[in-house]
Amino acid sequence: MTVELFRDDSYTKELDVIVSEVIPEGLIFDKTIFYPEGGGQPGDEGFVKNDENKTRVLGTKYINQKLVHLVEETQDFKKNDKVKLELDWSRRYSHMQVHTCLHLLCSIIPYPVTGGSIGDGRGRLDFDLETKPNKEDVLNSLNKLISDDHTISISSITDDELDQNPDLVRTMSVKPPRGSGTIRMIKIGEDIDFQPCGGTHVKKTSEIKLVKSVKIENKGKMNKRIIVNF
Ligand SMILES: [Zn+2]
Repeated sequence: MTVELFRDDSYTKELDVIVSEVIPEGLIFDKTIFYPEGGGQPGDEGFVKNDENKTRVLGTKYINQKLVHLVEETQDFKKNDKVKLELDWSRRYSHMQVHTCLHLLCSIIPYPVTGGSIGDGRGRLDFDLETKPNKEDVLNSLNKLISDDHTISISSITDDELDQNPDLVRTMSVKPPRGSGTIRMIKIGEDIDFQPCGGTHVKKTSEIKLVKSVKIENKGKMNKRIIVNF
């Protein structure tokens, strides 16, 4: 099992690791700072290198329960090689900013989330909602929360505690990961947002760029898509 260092520390940009397996799709390491695609957040990109070789990581994702770094060239590396991981930090940081902003959007629109997507400089959530909210109100509320500089903290609850508080789950399309006995929780401020999430987030809302525009689309009677651009 790869140790997932990005869960506790989203800010590490380089890391010395050991190749634990080479498969046709890519490389698996003893530990990593690369986030694997999931929960609407894209997998990380960057480089793997040692003194002799360097190859691009085109993506990161789980394949058959293994955290795989999809690389251009696998033949340059073998099991037990010591290598350095270099994260494409500007891309990942943008995902962290957008992702954290979507939590703020959740707090402004208190309806179930049916889907979502995080991109570089933009993101969207779909809500199970009949009436379109006013987009200027959404824009101003988001930018107020961003400017107010709230702290994002990571904690955990047990599976049983989550079962007793099902309202904590905001996203109907993504089920919180179970099996380890505890669920990772993300909290913003004292009471702005508190929900299970495995993604990467910034530490303070002031790290998020101010939102430039909000677009709201009708995707069916009970489905409104809110797109946030930075
Ligand atoms: Zn999150």
